[in-house]
Amino acid sequence: MYWEKDVETIDRKKLEEFQLVGLKNTLVKAGKSYYYDKIFKEKKINADSVKSLHDIQKIPFTTKDDLRENWPYGFIAVSKDELVRMHSSSGTTGRATVVFHTAADIAAWTDLLARSVYMAGLRKSDVFQNMMTYGLFTGGLGFHYAVEKIGALVIPAGAGNSKRQIQLMMDFATTAVHVIPSYALHLSTVFSDLHLDPRKDTKVRIAFVGAEPHTEKMRRKIEEIYGYKAFNSYGLSEMNGPGVAFECPCQDGMHIWEDNFLVEIINPRTLAPVADGEEGELVLTTLKREGMPLLRYRTKDLTRIIPEPCSCGRTHRRIERIKGRTDDMLILKGVNIFPMQIEKKLMEIPGVGTNFLIILERKEFNDSMMVKVEVNRELFSGELKQLEALRRKIVEELKSEILITPQIDLVEPDSIPKGEGKAVRVIDNRKD
Ligand code: ADP
Ligand code: ZN
Repeated sequence: MYWEKDVETIDRKKLEEFQLVGLKNTLVKAGKSYYYDKIFKEKKINADSVKSLHDIQKIPFTTKDDLRENWPYGFIAVSKDELVRMHSSSGTTGRATVVFHTAADIAAWTDLLARSVYMAGLRKSDVFQNMMTYGLFTGGLGFHYAVEKIGALVIPAGAGNSKRQIQLMMDFATTAVHVIPSYALHLSTVFSDLHLDPRKDTKVRIAFVGAEPHTEKMRRKIEEIYGYKAFNSYGLSEMNGPGVAFECPCQDGMHIWEDNFLVEIINPRTLAPVADGEEGELVLTTLKREGMPLLRYRTKDLTRIIPEPCSCGRTHRRIERIKGRTDDMLILKGVNIFPMQIEKKLMEIPGVGTNFLIILERKEFNDSMMVKVEVNRELFSGELKQLEALRRKIVEELKSEILITPQIDLVEPDSIPKGEGKAVRVIDNRKD
């Protein structure tokens, strides 16, 4: 049941003692980088400044912009000879950031992710198909090595090429997959086109879904279509990649591996810590990394700590499913809206298909929102009256959630362009 029982069920007091040692070591290591050396001198910080975990608040935050401004080597804390691998972020919100690893960093990341997938139920006997991009993106190689470490058979399928994915799944009796949630839904339409039913025609029993925000409803929809269990996997390249937080069999929040990461949740406006259990921005500090240690890194991801212990027995705290990024928030007519609010409502409505797109326009200082919503194939070829009823229902439901009346455009299944990577949920055509 556990990959490493002692670590996963560690007594919290002991965990905090290790964290303090890890934090002090990280300060020493980070001080060897160009960036932190400068910051520590400015702020007169060294390892002795930190007497308790609480003292982390004396250290300034690190942001994605700091990484971008000190690109590419400003955060390297070891000699370049020690580095064995580079990865980068996907660049969803701007210039991609790069992260460098030593051999020990890669080994630690591999182990963390092996711990994560083992927790969700992956075993040596599984056949694992990795449907993520191999290359700079961390979801490919990261999972590849972790699953090999468990000893399961890895099919390094890579992203895209849906028909081949399905063929591989059937030919080699794949039992576990790693997939971006929006792609899992897209792939289900390709199964239908081929007159195949993934529940009957494949043997997949576990999926790891991550890399982009998705709602509980979306997860359930994926599970329903495929007949497998889908486990939420959270990570970011700045903190290695996947394997930062992961769902256990309880599927109720993701355990964040606190032996490797020190967790804070802050108010993104005031930057003050929020009360335990309250929502805010996740801030992470690496406790073991050598190549590129990061202190108080602002992830921009919104979540909260679930303070109650988990019934699986692991003592590492859980974070709730990510609600979105701080910069995902749309402001329309003074109302703050997250794309996930729209997804949540849409996924509850029968007849709604697998994809949607929010388009914002501005005409004569008046902002408006249009949502293109794919509908189920059966419905699309059905009666106009039914479609109109669905359209009206969506308008009503969304209005009750976001307090604005959106224009709804029902479109054919698979008509919204879908790439292999993270879904694009919003197109903002408003000009300032
Ligand atoms: P980028 O920030 O450019 O997309 P990454 O590939 O490093 O680069 O992606 C990390 C980000 O992806 C996270 O900060 C988060 O916003 C998002 N993400 C990753 N996994 C999840 C998940 N399970 N749920 C929600 N968001 C996720
Ligand atoms: Zn648990």
